[in-house]
Amino acid sequence: MKDISPWSDELPDDYQEIIDKFGLEKFNVNEFPNPNHLMRRNIIFAGRGLKVISDCIKQKKDFYVLSGIMTSSEKIHLGTKSIIDMISYFQRQNAQTYVCIADLEALCTRNISLEESKKRALNFHIPIYLALGLDIKKTTFYFQSENKTVLHLSYAFSSKVTLNEYRAIYGNSEPSRILAALTQSADILFPQTIKKMPGIIPVGVDQDPHIRLTRDIVSRYKDYNFITPGSIYNKFMPSLDGSLKMSKSNINSAIFLPEDKNSACKKIMRALTGGRKDVEEQRKIGGVPENCMVFELYKQHLIEDDKKLNKVYEECKTGKILCGECKKNACDLMNKFLDSLNENFNKFKERIDDAKILKFKNN
Ligand code: SF4
Repeated sequence: MKDISPWSDELPDDYQEIIDKFGLEKFNVNEFPNPNHLMRRNIIFAGRGLKVISDCIKQKKDFYVLSGIMTSSEKIHLGTKSIIDMISYFQRQNAQTYVCIADLEALCTRNISLEESKKRALNFHIPIYLALGLDIKKTTFYFQSENKTVLHLSYAFSSKVTLNEYRAIYGNSEPSRILAALTQSADILFPQTIKKMPGIIPVGVDQDPHIRLTRDIVSRYKDYNFITPGSIYNKFMPSLDGSLKMSKSNINSAIFLPEDKNSACKKIMRALTGGRKDVEEQRKIGGVPENCMVFELYKQHLIEDDKKLNKVYEECKTGKILCGECKKNACDLMNKFLDSLNENFNKFKERIDDAKILKFKNN
């Protein structure tokens, strides 16, 4: 089985194998009201503690959703949009929404100063997260380095995990990564220090080690009586050449947000498809959308309407559409998306003072 740790770029071969190996719960779309396109299309495939959260939604009980922003550069790739789509989903189901700026983690694992992280978060990350759909009135941001509760908790948690357990979960034990992981556990639980309620963390399945560590810590750390946090996992957005998961290091095969429209289109035109060796064969036996990165773009990001997506699928399978035209259609949709994103991004950049950023009295 391939490495699916937070530090690997490899794409898993078999998601059922991951569910079995790590004892995850299989995601059941029927359990969640008003599922979004990722949930309906099996891109969301697993999680932990899912029933607690679906019950909160159905019974209109308080719960929270939390995510973190790593300020390693002033760009994100398209795959991050799926996480923001899931935060937005839970926000629409009335989750209290927290987004942590992981400036301490950026300092200890990437050597980025706290000042630089703050600048990047205010100029770029917060506006782009809002532009991608988070509600400015309902989203609370905070900086790890300013949050003494998180710092105290991460120190307290350090006595609840042994080095061997840490190695068993993560497979390595560099001091900076141990610190970062303990701080992430504290972030995941921080909203419960404001109000005791269940929480859910939407992440790629490669982040499951952080969730496992946090759930283990909760079973041992009794001071706050934390409720065990849940998680929900999406399959990876593959890079456009189909070789790896989309990441910032894979420049020619990833679409960045924001990105120049011409450059995004050039990447789409070069993408791996499920097309046949020539036009005649494709007209005769159709393409293979299941192996096509352009179809993956449609499915995960460009087409929300299921009927429209099915139409593309059918036209591909029956050879009615050829890859050139299909890629051109994807470019047009990507251009519309990037135009709208840019407009919103600039709007939220100007409104950064309206964003809810927690201020801590204890600093
Ligand atoms: Fe992919 Fe479209 Fe070609 Fe089908 S027609 S293989 S969906 S690019």
